[in-house]
Amino acid sequence: MLPQSIDDWKLKDFLPESELVLPEHQVDRPRFPAIDAHNHLGGIVRQGAEAVSRLLDLMDSLGLRAMVNLDAGYGSAVSLEECLRLLKEPYPERFILFHTLNWKRVEEGEGFGERMAADLREAVARGAQGVKIHKSLGLRIRDPQGRLLMPDDERLAPIFAAAGELGIPVLYHVADPRAFFRPLDGRNERLEQLARHPDWHFYGGDFPQFEVLMEAQARLVRRHPNTTFISAHLCSYVENLRWVSDLLDACPNLNVDLSARYEELGRQPYTARRFFLRHADRILFGADFEPEAWHYRVLFRFLETDDEYFPYAIGPRPQKGRWRIYGIFLPDDVLRKVYAENAARLIPGVR
Ligand SMILES: [Zn+2]
Repeated sequence: MLPQSIDDWKLKDFLPESELVLPEHQVDRPRFPAIDAHNHLGGIVRQGAEAVSRLLDLMDSLGLRAMVNLDAGYGSAVSLEECLRLLKEPYPERFILFHTLNWKRVEEGEGFGERMAADLREAVARGAQGVKIHKSLGLRIRDPQGRLLMPDDERLAPIFAAAGELGIPVLYHVADPRAFFRPLDGRNERLEQLARHPDWHFYGGDFPQFEVLMEAQARLVRRHPNTTFISAHLCSYVENLRWVSDLLDACPNLNVDLSARYEELGRQPYTARRFFLRHADRILFGADFEPEAWHYRVLFRFLETDDEYFPYAIGPRPQKGRWRIYGIFLPDDVLRKVYAENAARLIPGVR
């Protein structure tokens, strides 16, 4: 029973169910075989060969041709060797490994950029096909003088130059959703999510402002025109696709992945669809969630159907916010590029 006055209701008790009667399409497999260009398989590698073979069964059932593992090295607790032994060597066509930079190098003092570039060259010689940069760059990593290290810091330039020479892409994550940089009050659209994950709140204190990180990202990509960049999560600025679109127009070496952002795209379906049609050659399919069938299927449904107002997650209180999403019914030529062709073009050794 609810209290008599609406003023006494609790948010947790308000769980409205939609009365809309609409067409629903279940999309079990993508229309074209897909490459998941953004995932973290450290946990699966740690579990061993049986977990890997279960993952392959799931990939087969979901029409996933290959998966990029961004956890191959420092910070993910699985080494490149383990990833090579359990993923790449037994299944060379199914897994793609990205080297994770070792930020402990910064503590070793001057010349850290050169040393990290040398690490990258060695990792590529051993089988890495790209490099991943975690969002801690720009938020938490400090230089030997104790100052926050920004993504466009000149001392890191050797890493990006090396990636350009090696012909491998840099997949980087800068910042996080816009609301994570806002005060934590009743106007914050991610309030419920941030209440569960206070460590994702980057407002005030030592944290840079969101705009500062976006400007650093733009300078980084402009400064290395011969390096291919894949900006995770649509430059972390899916809330402003105009901004992302302008940066893509200005920087032919920039690409984006849609991982962990279909929820945001799906609540702005007209703008999102126009964005995908305009930048069809520059967007990579990716998950960045635990490999689970239901989750991939929502993503396929979002990309392929014109279904309206459907839940993006299971459960009455979806993690990112209380909204539903709309499909963007992409045409076949765009789906082919987004699902696999763009990843195959940008990542060496991928067919
Ligand atoms: Zn990720």
